[in-house]
Amino acid sequence: MRRTLYCGHLRKEHAGQTVVLEGWVNRRRDLGGLIFIDLRDREGLAQVVVSPEASCFAEADRLRSEWVVRVEGKVQLRPADQVNPRLATGAVEVIAERLEVLAEAKTPPFPIDAGWRGEEDQQVSEEVRLKNRVVDLRRKRLHQNLRLRHQVITAIYSFLDGEGFISVETPYLTRSTPEGARDFLVPSRLEPGHFYALPQSPQLFKQMLMVAGYDRYFQIARCFRDEDLRADRQPDFTQLDIEMSFVTQDDIIALNERLAAHILRETKGLELTLPFPRLSYAEAMNRYGSDKPDLRFGLELQEVTEVFKGGEFRAFAAAETVKALVVPSLLSRREIEELEAIAKSKGAAGLAWARYEQAALSGGIARFIPPNLPQMLQLSEGQTLLFVAGPWRKTVECLGAVRLELGKRLGLIEPGYRFLWVVDFPLLEWDEEASRWTYMHHPFTSPNLDDLHLLDTDPGKVRAYAYDFVLNGSEIGGGSIRIHRRELQERMFALLGISAEEAQQKFGFLLEALSYGAPPHGGIAWGLDRFVAHLAGEESIREVIAFPKNKEGKETLTGAPAPVDEVQLAAVGLAIRSKV
Ligand code: ASP
Repeated sequence: MRRTLYCGHLRKEHAGQTVVLEGWVNRRRDLGGLIFIDLRDREGLAQVVVSPEASCFAEADRLRSEWVVRVEGKVQLRPADQVNPRLATGAVEVIAERLEVLAEAKTPPFPIDAGWRGEEDQQVSEEVRLKNRVVDLRRKRLHQNLRLRHQVITAIYSFLDGEGFISVETPYLTRSTPEGARDFLVPSRLEPGHFYALPQSPQLFKQMLMVAGYDRYFQIARCFRDEDLRADRQPDFTQLDIEMSFVTQDDIIALNERLAAHILRETKGLELTLPFPRLSYAEAMNRYGSDKPDLRFGLELQEVTEVFKGGEFRAFAAAETVKALVVPSLLSRREIEELEAIAKSKGAAGLAWARYEQAALSGGIARFIPPNLPQMLQLSEGQTLLFVAGPWRKTVECLGAVRLELGKRLGLIEPGYRFLWVVDFPLLEWDEEASRWTYMHHPFTSPNLDDLHLLDTDPGKVRAYAYDFVLNGSEIGGGSIRIHRRELQERMFALLGISAEEAQQKFGFLLEALSYGAPPHGGIAWGLDRFVAHLAGEESIREVIAFPKNKEGKETLTGAPAPVDEVQLAAVGLAIRSKV
């Protein structure tokens, strides 16, 4: 007996045929002397019926959930009143003639059958799910997500191949690539005391491939960043990494837009309208309080700094920036307090407010508000004004966080995929702690050549040829045009406070490569996990990764990270100093 087709592929046209199915018992029911088995494989469920006359009845009677079986039988149409319209196989059933148990199974720690029947899966804590990931992965939801991920990757390969890209693998055991996180280190056995770093990205390798003339490169690359844990980060994650030669920022943006359109067409049957909107960093921050704005709703931040200048409300009169939100409903004190807590958690001094009712402002800071404001903001009945004041960046970010919360609470978020580009990022940002300039993207990003004259005099004003790709309020990709001249790269290192010796020691190979004639080049990397999560409609990237780490960065299924024995440590010349 060999399998003749997948359970989930059984259709009306198979009626009359003898088939062999193999799979897991999704559910077994006894009804009126008959045994009904929902047999499951990755393609779906098939109903198998065993009658008491069948020679395999006794065997069928032993079956429990999740046992693995092989069944041979005849396909027949179900009686009209037993057709299940929720299942693609719902019009037929298999009358079992032979049945073989291939493996028995323990009772799973939680049921996984409901999703396959088109019902809601039982809620199970993530901890239990991840610990029992093999069982968890049997659920329909995860099968669908991993299938979607595969389709996305297939679409990426076919599109980029068609555009003349070649995929090249770059090393996992390598030297540090600065992307702003800590490196994961791998001790060398052959050279004790020396370490490889796992790549934070293939950045420098892809640039060297451009210098080597490969012109168009891509890779689905695993990247490793030892960052402090944030709810939805994985220490190892997947990037779609792209690099192109002899291109401008516009070329890279256009290619990636077509790629996104191709993926959505292939996986969702959706036609996106190109080009996607572009906002400068300054505009995104000013209008949405975020460098990755969610354009699925409006509720833009309003600029009101000037209105309060020189007025009697001191905190506002002297502030660098005052921004307002016009909320389309009357918020209660309690709601305002909750929103204020969000603003404060981001560093705001407070959240000021006033309500607009019966053509007048009242409550909160109403009496300090200049009389022309309602007209200027075109207020209408039943609205609430919210204000934050302070330094520009903090102010817009705090009110941006309030905007996002209101978007959710007031149900303003429209369904769909809203892509956009954020461009014209500053090249550098001031690091208060280290009191020096640091790169905003990475140290290989090219300054906007129009701003080059400011590099020494006013570095904070220099814009970069850097761009972020944003979908529904999350950054799904980012890239830049690179520095392709050695002198400029050296100047950049100096500006970042990296001495010539250090530059030579850490990035000598790159500088060397740049001195062999580098083409102008640039690229981008997409966070593939996050992108797929958006397409799958999942909140967490852990739902689109087969074996993810938990929120603490642990892989509880295998128990990583785990101690290693003394012998292994000694072999790489290490000893544990202290266990915390
Ligand atoms: N290497 C960058 C990153 O990982 C992406 C790029 O600049 O292409 O964010």
